Amino acid sequence: MENNENQRQKAAASRFSIVQGDITTFAVDAIANAANTSLLGGGGVDGAIHRAAGPELLAECRTLGGCATGQAKLTGGYRLPARFVLHTPGPVWNGGGDGEEALLKSCYESCLKLVAENGCKTVAFPSISTGIYGFPLEKAAPIAVGTILRFLEDHQDMEVQMVCFDGRTRNAYEEAFKDWG
Ligand code: ADP
Repeated sequence: MENNENQRQKAAASRFSIVQGDITTFAVDAIANAANTSLLGGGGVDGAIHRAAGPELLAECRTLGGCATGQAKLTGGYRLPARFVLHTPGPVWNGGGDGEEALLKSCYESCLKLVAENGCKTVAFPSISTGIYGFPLEKAAPIAVGTILRFLEDHQDMEVQMVCFDGRTRNAYEEAFKDWG
C-alpha cells in the first residue's frame, strides 16, 4: 500500500514543473490569472494577460459579474496561445489572521477544478498573491506546490507548470518542491 502511495506521489511530481518566464507566452490548455474581484483588469500579471489577449478578453470578463476571493471563473484565451484563462482573485495579505492561507489554497483548488471540468490537460499558474497583494513568498510557495501536487495525484492525465517571473520567486517554489512529501 505504501509503495502505491509513493508511486502516486512520484508520478504526480513528474507532471509538475517550475519554470521562469512570461505566462502570456505559454501554449497550454489554460493559464491562471491573478485577477482582482472585479475581473476588469489590473496591474502585474493581470495587466500583461489582458494586453496579450486583446480587448475581447475584457469584453467577456464584463459579462461575468466579478468573482469572489478564492474562487475562479473561466474565459476564452483570445489572442493568447492558451485556450482558456482561469481568473482567480487571490487574498490580499493582511498579516495572516484573515484566512489568507485557506483562501490562497482555494484559488489553486478552484482553478484546478475548472480545468478538470473543461477537459484541460496542461495548465500554467503564476505565483498568485505574491506581487501587489503582498502574500509572503515563503508562505505562498508551499501552499501552491502542495495543493497542485495533491490534485495531480488524483488526476494522472494532467500536467501543471508554475511560471515564475523572477529568480527569487523561482527559488522559493523550488525550495517548496524539494521539501514536499
Ligand atoms: P497579485 O495581485 O495576486 O499579487 P501580481 O500580478 O502583482 O498579482 O503578482 C503575482 C506574481 O505574478 C508576481 O510574482 C509577479 O512577479 C508575477 N508576474 C507579473 N507578470 C507576470 C507574467 N507576465 N508572467 C508570469 N508572472 C508574472
